[in-house]
Amino acid sequence: MAGRDSPEPAGATLNFVAYLCRACRGLLVARDSRTVADSDGISADATVIDYSCVHCAARYTLWRIPHAQRRDGRVTTEWRERWSTPVDELRLRSPWVFVTNASAVEAELYRELGPAHILRNRPAHAVARRCDCDDVLFVSGLEAFVVHLTWRGKPEADPRWPSVEGYASLDEFVRLRMEPDCAEYGDE
Ligand SMILES: [Zn+2]
Repeated sequence: MAGRDSPEPAGATLNFVAYLCRACRGLLVARDSRTVADSDGISADATVIDYSCVHCAARYTLWRIPHAQRRDGRVTTEWRERWSTPVDELRLRSPWVFVTNASAVEAELYRELGPAHILRNRPAHAVARRCDCDDVLFVSGLEAFVVHLTWRGKPEADPRWPSVEGYASLDEFVRLRMEPDCAEYGDE
């Protein structure tokens, strides 16, 4: 069994979080981001990111504001985050990690879906993957789907492939899939 001594792959975004709409618990997806130049001459630029909820389309804005401090001749930057409206957070535990190439994974999903597949013609956002296999978590509306991609790059004739497990919500995915996976994987 893949135990505690399995190292995380380099570059795993363990501290990253996904954000959820507080009104409906839908996933927030970044639509636009821009930088705002610093004014004090030592800070990095601030970043402004616009998000919208994939379910209810509520809009949110996140400001990531650098706060630079000069100490002993060195400048260190601490980032402060401020939301236009409070959000909830989704944190993953091993072996689940956030995807860093969502658009490529979504493109592969659409290539694999045959005409009768349950996810055909549904917008799906790739959120996370298991670091030790080809299972990928997609969100469509409020529902969550774990898809075992085949990576054959073409439609599967059998609508049972790529195989799918459906969950009514991200919370249900966490309770019924991520937490048992985590216990089996041996995370803290
Ligand atoms: Zn929402």
